[in-house]
Amino acid sequence: MTLQPILSAEAVDELRRLVDGATRVVLFCHQNADGDAIGSMAAATLLLRRLGKTVTAIAPNNFPDFLQWIPTAPEVVQADRMMNRVDEALAETDLVLMLDFNTPKRMGDELATRVLACEAPKVMIDHHLDPDAPCQLTVSHPEMCSTCEVLLRVMLDMGWTDGLTAQEATALYTGMMTDTGNFAYASNRPDIFLAISILLGTGIDKDRIYRNIFYTYSEGRMRMMGYLLYVKMQMLPHHAALITMTNDERRHFHVKNGATEGIVNLPLQMEGMRLSIFLREDTEQPGLIRVSTRSLDDFPCNELCAEFFNGGGHKNAAGGSLRMSMDDAIQVVQKAVKKYEEKLTS
Ligand code: 5GP
Ligand code: MN
Repeated sequence: MTLQPILSAEAVDELRRLVDGATRVVLFCHQNADGDAIGSMAAATLLLRRLGKTVTAIAPNNFPDFLQWIPTAPEVVQADRMMNRVDEALAETDLVLMLDFNTPKRMGDELATRVLACEAPKVMIDHHLDPDAPCQLTVSHPEMCSTCEVLLRVMLDMGWTDGLTAQEATALYTGMMTDTGNFAYASNRPDIFLAISILLGTGIDKDRIYRNIFYTYSEGRMRMMGYLLYVKMQMLPHHAALITMTNDERRHFHVKNGATEGIVNLPLQMEGMRLSIFLREDTEQPGLIRVSTRSLDDFPCNELCAEFFNGGGHKNAAGGSLRMSMDDAIQVVQKAVKKYEEKLTS
């Protein structure tokens, strides 16, 4: 068994032309970056520096502390705090690389407008459905578990894995691991494990990577999880569950941004569950409720989120937002679950 090429000969030529022609490269990921977003930017940063480029990696906003240990993560520019650095980087760049999102909107409107106005050629590497961005080259593989998996495959096709470093492999493994819940979902394709064996060949410590990501809770985070499960989880009809969280509750447990990561997965651990929904007040925008959904098997979270929560995503993991009170958002959830009754029970 071997990994077959994913890039056409034309795509290889185009990407080589774009990268060879660039001295400076700017990387972007989506808002509220996760392990795959930071992991793919980190791997691309290290790779492009190995190829002699000057690289600036930009995240639209703050990202969780438990991703800071990833090589190069501490130097990621946070756009909402340093838009002048973004403008400088965009003014000078020869190439824009967009990682782990399918449409510029996922960077937020302000950043999307700036990136779209930039005249440098653009490349998108992603694994979300329906890529929609004006790029010279779009490498989109929704069947893959993560952007990090797509990026590794691109690196293989380009010959850039000759000299693959353990730091690059660590970043790539992190994104593959986090987007699959440590290979608990979206990870049945044999190719994933062929790819991982290449990463392990660089000598990375995958057990340590696991602990760096998943064994990092503060006491407050641990107690918050207990509280949300014991006090706040509501069972909905048709094998669905809802957890809600206000900013007052967040403050009570002294948890940082990103600390709610993973909460939405917990209700699915109950036998027979099909759908979990997590509503939380946005920490920066009053009146905005962030929505996360997770499902098992064929239930389409992306359709649910597109129809009811102004969002989208993957079949088993999607999100969105609602501009309303928590009580009204709960009503929307109840309506959504009712509308999807058939899909929840089939
Ligand atoms: P999370 O629940 O972890 O925030 O997001 C899970 C997945 O849902 C993300 O990987 C992304 O694909 C998708 N997603 C989250 N929020 C949004 C949104 O506002 N719009 C769209 N289109 N997708 C989203
Ligand atoms: Mn991803």
